[in-house]
Parts: sequence; C-alpha cells; structure tokens
Amino acid sequence: MKICAISFHCCPFSLLGGDGTGGMNVYLRELCSALTSYPEVKIDIFTRIQNPMIREIKYFSPQARVVHLRGGPERPMDRTKLYDFLPEFSRNLESFIYQERESYDLVYSHYWLSGLVGEGIRHKFNLPLAHIYHTLAFLKERVLREEPREHESRIRAERHLAYVSDAIISSSGEEMQSLVDEYGISSSKGRIIYPGVNKKLFYPLEDRMVLREMRCREKDRIILYVGRIDPAKGLMTVIEALELLKKRDLPLYSQLKLIVVGGGRKKEDLPGNKEFIRIKEAIREKKLTGKVIFLGSKKQSQLHKYYSAAEALVMPSLYESFGLVPVEAMACGTPALVSRIGEMRYIVQEGRNGFSFRPNNPSSLASCLEHFFSNKESLWDAEKIRQNAIKNFSWGKTAEETYSLFRRLRREKASITTIFQPDESLRPV
Ligand code: UDP
Repeated sequence: MKICAISFHCCPFSLLGGDGTGGMNVYLRELCSALTSYPEVKIDIFTRIQNPMIREIKYFSPQARVVHLRGGPERPMDRTKLYDFLPEFSRNLESFIYQERESYDLVYSHYWLSGLVGEGIRHKFNLPLAHIYHTLAFLKERVLREEPREHESRIRAERHLAYVSDAIISSSGEEMQSLVDEYGISSSKGRIIYPGVNKKLFYPLEDRMVLREMRCREKDRIILYVGRIDPAKGLMTVIEALELLKKRDLPLYSQLKLIVVGGGRKKEDLPGNKEFIRIKEAIREKKLTGKVIFLGSKKQSQLHKYYSAAEALVMPSLYESFGLVPVEAMACGTPALVSRIGEMRYIVQEGRNGFSFRPNNPSSLASCLEHFFSNKESLWDAEKIRQNAIKNFSWGKTAEETYSLFRRLRREKASITTIFQPDESLRPV
C-alpha cells in the first residue's frame, strides 16, 4: 500500500515545542515509522518548504520519505496565514505525482489545511481520503472565546471535510462525539484511534546535571510543564495557582519549583511569543520570580530526564484532543496532574497515576497540588505507572488500527458513500 500523507504546515522533523510544532509532528513521525513495520507499506509525507536549505526529499526509512514542496514563502509562518498558499502547494503536489509517476492507494491528511489539499488529490486521482483534524476550531473557540486568531475559513473547511472525507480519525472519544453531534458524522466514517508512547524514548532516568540546569536543589519539589506556550495550553493557570499557594500554604509554596520546557529556542523564539510575555509579566507582578524556570524547547530524546526529575507533570490545558505529554511522563514513572478535559480525564486515574482539576481554575489546581503533595508517599508506584502507560499506549497498536482502517478504505474505495456537499470557495485547485 502506498500512502500519500499530507502535512502542509508542519514538517515532522521540525524542532518540537515551538510555536506550532508539537503533538502533530510527533504523531506523524511515530505513526509513519510504525506503519513501515508492515513491509508492504510505503509512505510519502508532503510538507511545505520552510527553509530554502531543506527542499530535498528526505528518507527517514527505506519505506518512508518526506517530500518538501513549495507552498508560500520558504520560511516558518504562522499557520493562520497559510491558507492563501494552498493552491500553489496543491499544484506542486499534483505535478510531483505526475512527474514521478507515483501511484497512491490512499490520501491521509493532517489538520484542516492539509485536508483541503487532500480533498483535491482525492478527486483528481480517485483515491479514498482519511483525515485527522488534530484540533477543531469550533471546540477551541468554546473555551477560548476572546482569541479570534483562527483563519475565517477554518470552521467552514472543517465542516466540509467531515462530509467529503471517507474516514475521520480522532484521538479522543469526546472529540468524536462532538463531531457526531455537530457535523453528523456517521459511525462507519468516524474512528477513534489512540496515539502511543515510545517506550524507548520515555523511561525513568535520574540525572544530577538536569537538577543543576533546572537551578533546583535535591529538596525542591519540582512540578514540570512540557509543551507549547499558547493560551490554549493554560500555563497561566499554574502561575495563578502558585500565587494562591503562596497565600494559603506557605510551607508547600516555599518548596515548589515550576520548570517549563517548550516554547521554542530560549533566546530566539521565547521573547517573541505573546503568551510567554504575558506569563512573564504575571510572574513579575505576582512576585513569583525564581519560582518558575523557563528552559526553552528540548529534543524529545532528552525529555525523559526532565520527566524523571519532576515529582509531577502538570498539564493545565483548556483544550486538548488527547495530550501526549501526560502519557510520556507516566512512561517515565511520573504521575500527571491534568485538567479535566478531553481524553486526559480518562487516562488519569485519580490517586493511581495522577489527579485532575477543573480547567482554567487556579483554586482547583492549588487544591490538587496540596492534595498530591500531602498524599504522595503512600500513593505512587513509579514502576506501575510506567507499566500501565506503555501497556495501554503504543505506536505499534496505533499503526495496527490505522492500517486496518486504510485496508478497509482501499477495499471499499468506490463503494463508500459520502454525503458530498461541494464548497467551491474552499477548493484549493
Ligand atoms: N515536545 C518536545 N520538546 C519540547 C516540548 C514538547 O519534544 O520542548 C514534544 C512532547 O514530547 C510531545 C509533543 O511535543 O510529544 C507535544 O504534544 P502534546 O500532545 O502534549 O501537545 P500539542 O503540541 O499536540 O498541543
């Protein structure tokens, strides 16, 4: 089976944790690698050129390659400004397929922008289209009302993709239910497939040098945040919870340290990130300087040291489809404190591998921290936490389920009934 995967706005090999790079890159990289464990699978991932020095075809295994094509300026761009470059990218993708005489069995698109490109390819070459949204604008807007940052066409395009795709994959049962309620997706079209965790990358490892880098002492109680610095990720909730703890539980507060990993390169990207500036100002105002250490983004291969050094991972997101980070922390034996949303609320089992708190609610998080640190010794078994995480989540399993869906789509290619509602204004080619 030859798969045409489209990831227009992000390259699976970009630095992770920066603006716009995170879970989706990991998902593509890990899943595509796992899919190539099937000898008959070949994958091409098409992405836009973001750096004039990286425009070639890059093989990441004998069966899988990333193909860089022109689609807008050859530099990283805010993804909300990329819509206008879809026609150029689509034309280049089509030319590539003709020139190289490629013959694909299926189009697999990631995020709404790639979905629109995928739809064009689906029609031109009469292929089935499997789409995964990663995030949905209508769900995001429910929790982030004051942030009208999304492209005006996004919601319309996402609805349109629900109609024209042959299969919609989601990492979350809750998200799938919302798609059913809002867009009327049928049960034969929707498929919930959980992402995995790479147990070779995420395992417990003590490293004293990491303590020094985090400017922490042995006796500090470290809580760790890993991820993009973006309003939807809710880092501000942790800052406000720390301020509350300063007032209501000084002994605990004085032992706590919050370590932040992510946000891009520390010197170049962080200072230009609006949410980072807002958080820095809040830290200054609330006199929490020294309590919060920003390390910038780290390579995924280094993250296990930070997860292992922390007593708890905190994921305070306001919106999340799945959330890879809590599972990665658990694979390192570290419990996770997560906001009660999306799939995270089911992954975290209260008192066994973490606790949950109300999203966007600093007081609930402050109580959660107090509860966690007062119960810690009796509750946690790091090895059990790890074993459970790697048993329940593996990219091998994700690939198996995805591949079985792809095989079905190929078989049913012509007979799948999609309620096709053309929307010419969205068609990129
Ligand atoms: N990540 C990383 N380095 C960083 C920050 C994050 O490698 O400095 C990775 C992290 O391991 C995780 C992904 O980025 O796999 C973030 O995924 P998640 O689903 O938690 O959040 P998303 O970015 O999808 O909102």
